[in-house]
Amino acid sequence: MKLVLLFLMFLVIKMKTLYKCANCGEYTLKPDLCPHCGGKTYTPHPARFSIEKEQKYSKYRRNLLKNQLNKSK
Ligand SMILES: [Zn+2]
Repeated sequence: MKLVLLFLMFLVIKMKTLYKCANCGEYTLKPDLCPHCGGKTYTPHPARFSIEKEQKYSKYRRNLLKNQLNKSK
């Protein structure tokens, strides 16, 4: 059980440091240049989406919408 957890942690760390080449599509651990073709690399994982952050600003967003509606009347 402990070994599985360790393996999962290893995977997460590995995923975070994995880069993909924009030129040839190869995966690499190098953060800037692709070792296969020298092309630029990028992280293939999208930015983390946080619902908490959305709720934090929803109050202001709703106020803004309300103000805009009042102005247009
Ligand atoms: Zn490449």
